[in-house]
Amino acid sequence: MTTPDAGTDLESSIRPGTYDPFDLLAAIIESCDDAIIGKDLDGTITSWNRGAEHLYGYARADILGKNVTIITPADRLEELADMLARVGRGDRIEHCDTQRVHNDGSVLDVSVTVSPIRDTTGTIVGASAIGRDITDRLSLERTQLRALLSAVPDAIVGIDASGRIEFASNRVEALFGWSVDELVGQQVEVLVPESVTSVHVVHRARYVADPYPRHMGNELQLSARRKDGTEFPAEISLNTITDESGKALVLAAVRDVSESRRNQREVKEREILFDQFARSTEVGFSLRESTQMLYMNPSFLRIFGFDRNQPTPTLLDVRALIHRDDQGAAAIASAEADLGKSSKTELRIPQTDGTIRWFTATNDQVRVVDGGVSRVATTLTDISDRKISEAIAQSAQVEAHGARVEAERANAAKTMFLSRMSHELRTPLNAILGFGKLLEMDELSAEHRDSITQIVGAGEHLLGLIDEVLDISQMEHGKMRLSLEPVWVSDVTDEVVGMIAPLAVQRGIQILVDAPETFVRADRQRLKQVVVNLLANAVKYNRDGGVVRIYGEQRDTGRFRLTVSDTGIGIANTDLGRLFQPFERLSADQSSVEGTGLGLAVTKQLISAMGGEIGVTSRVGDGSSFWVELSTTDTPTDDRRKEPRVEGTPLPSTERKTILYVEDNLSNVRLLERIVDRLSDVDLLVAIRGSLAIEMAVEHQPDLILLDLHLPDMCGEDVLRGLRADPSTADIPIVITSADATKDRPKQLLALGATDYLTKPFDLGRLFGVINDVSASRRLRASEMQKSEANSEQTRNRPIVLPVTEPTVDSADRASEAIECVHDLYNELGVIQNCCALLASTATDRTMMSDLGTIQVAVERAIHIAERMSKL
Ligand code: ADP
Repeated sequence: MTTPDAGTDLESSIRPGTYDPFDLLAAIIESCDDAIIGKDLDGTITSWNRGAEHLYGYARADILGKNVTIITPADRLEELADMLARVGRGDRIEHCDTQRVHNDGSVLDVSVTVSPIRDTTGTIVGASAIGRDITDRLSLERTQLRALLSAVPDAIVGIDASGRIEFASNRVEALFGWSVDELVGQQVEVLVPESVTSVHVVHRARYVADPYPRHMGNELQLSARRKDGTEFPAEISLNTITDESGKALVLAAVRDVSESRRNQREVKEREILFDQFARSTEVGFSLRESTQMLYMNPSFLRIFGFDRNQPTPTLLDVRALIHRDDQGAAAIASAEADLGKSSKTELRIPQTDGTIRWFTATNDQVRVVDGGVSRVATTLTDISDRKISEAIAQSAQVEAHGARVEAERANAAKTMFLSRMSHELRTPLNAILGFGKLLEMDELSAEHRDSITQIVGAGEHLLGLIDEVLDISQMEHGKMRLSLEPVWVSDVTDEVVGMIAPLAVQRGIQILVDAPETFVRADRQRLKQVVVNLLANAVKYNRDGGVVRIYGEQRDTGRFRLTVSDTGIGIANTDLGRLFQPFERLSADQSSVEGTGLGLAVTKQLISAMGGEIGVTSRVGDGSSFWVELSTTDTPTDDRRKEPRVEGTPLPSTERKTILYVEDNLSNVRLLERIVDRLSDVDLLVAIRGSLAIEMAVEHQPDLILLDLHLPDMCGEDVLRGLRADPSTADIPIVITSADATKDRPKQLLALGATDYLTKPFDLGRLFGVINDVSASRRLRASEMQKSEANSEQTRNRPIVLPVTEPTVDSADRASEAIECVHDLYNELGVIQNCCALLASTATDRTMMSDLGTIQVAVERAIHIAERMSKL
């Protein structure tokens, strides 16, 4: 017995009334919905059940004996033959989806299982085929497939072996601009760029002959063509499937990669750009993740001296190469960058050539999009050049500062030196003027008188010059001190007019004074100096026979204005700005009018130091009006309206007096001897050393001691102290004779116990006055005591002592300019020397010759000092 599976030849029906198993099987087959047919190996149909009748539309009677090809579509005949051949070989073909033709001509989708039928000997004699209608299932499957393919972003087309498009997914519309219906049936080359269609045909045939799955992303640069002829970059994957009919279908999935290509291109371009930048830039660049260095550009490697071939260093290796002093800052900056805080530091990195270079290091966190890992990008920019120039600039600044300080110091020293020299010059001038004036008192020939007048004139000019240099240097050092007190203006103007009048008379110039009757707050001596300067200029720069007016007026501001106007040459407007600058002589430089260009500069400083103002109005050719304004005051601390005038002639005296002259300068000793010669009642003792002076004073108890401050063995102050400390000399009047004309010196010495203070060159009138007072010398001391008490009384109302302005910035220049006046000094000394020589050549009087000799020695000394000044 064989089982149906074993391929028993089944007849179409089961005989009724029997329960023969074969009958039963036949009945089951007959009632089955599946089409079950039997055929021999050449395809002749031998059995046909009801299901077959129903499926294929043929009645059993009509079909038996016919060949199965009757229900096989033409394109499936080959498949059929193949199936029968396989079954003939004993194979069983299961569930093969294929197509069959209905009696009405329609094509049916069926699933067929074909098994061999064997006879009792086991020989295969035919085949049984069970067919099932799968149209619905396939339709469902196709619908699902289409839905699936449409959901895929790629456009999918199925092509048969001839290149005909059998199938297209909905995406073709979006990608190619073709509708599915338009595309199906066309040659696939409509989707291929025209330039490559012929090549494509060859490739396609080759692929069909030897298909293999080709996946996307294999880097093939392919293009596809749209319906409108435009092209787009595409990636295409290929695979081969067999359709339900067993036909091979090449499935091509096409993806538009325009955007990704663009992105790729952009990324590539950026990569190239970055690479070029990273290679060519001098800036070192690195990227790290934690302590692992991911990237270092060539400059970064060079900066740290890394070899490209050596193993990648870690962050710690890199940091170890930073200058030790900067490693801490670098570590902090790295740590901050890890936490997301950008940083910028300056650090030093020793180079392989032994130099140390400076870099600005920036650290920035870079967030990597995927994974959220943070990396740190570091840049290193070489700033060594900047650092060097900064250092140079800084050291230049320091140097400049140093140079400025040095220049200021040097100029301060020069000014000090000038000031000291000026003092020193006063000593020889003492001899020049002293002897000159003594000689003037003698009976002289007109010729001699003229020479002596010149000596005295030149000497006085020298003295003025020296005083001005002294003033300037003192003011510039802020050393000049002023005693501001109420000063009766007409006192000052009267005195000054008296001094200047002889000059004016010589040139027929009239001085008209509208006596200003008021007190102003000023330093009396300095105000006098101011008025002398203005009045002297008004005469000097006037025309012969001109007029000078001095008048005062009360201003609304509460100040008093004193004006000195002249009818002289006037000053051009353009010159007014320079008028008060030291050594500025404007056009007078080229004229024969003598001057130093210091007067107005001193005047202005003095006036502003006294809290006043100075100004000028002028017209060239018409004259100038210089004015000064000072505060008025009503309460004089003492009435100094009339200062007692010192007469220049000695008063007769009956008592004999002894004078001890403490002086080491022989010219001055000689001068005093000549002065004392004129006084019949005076004996002169001379001590050229301080210690000797004290001894002699104790021994001789002189009526007056004239004490010079510069002595070879001790300073004058100490001699003064010594004399005052000894009761036997404590009461002796001591008059200081010094070349130091600064205002503070007399005060200091008076405080030490000096009786009076005479500046060199001696004002002979004052000197005679002092000597005349010697008769009451002992009483003088007592009265001095009283005076000092009165002075301390006065201190309550004492004039305010003001320091003059701070040293001016350009004092250095002015100090050096002061040297210019040395030339004037030379001139004047030259005049004196010539006059002396002239006088000496004609003098017959021995005394006169000796006096001239002393003057000449003094001049030589002055020339020597002037030489020292000129070497500054
Ligand atoms: P000095 O008279 O020694 O040259 P001053 O400082 O007193 O120096 O004056 C500076 C310059 O101002 C003078 O050289 C002169 O050119 C000009 N000057 C001063 N006063 C008058 C004046 N009253 N009339 C015309 N020019 C004057």
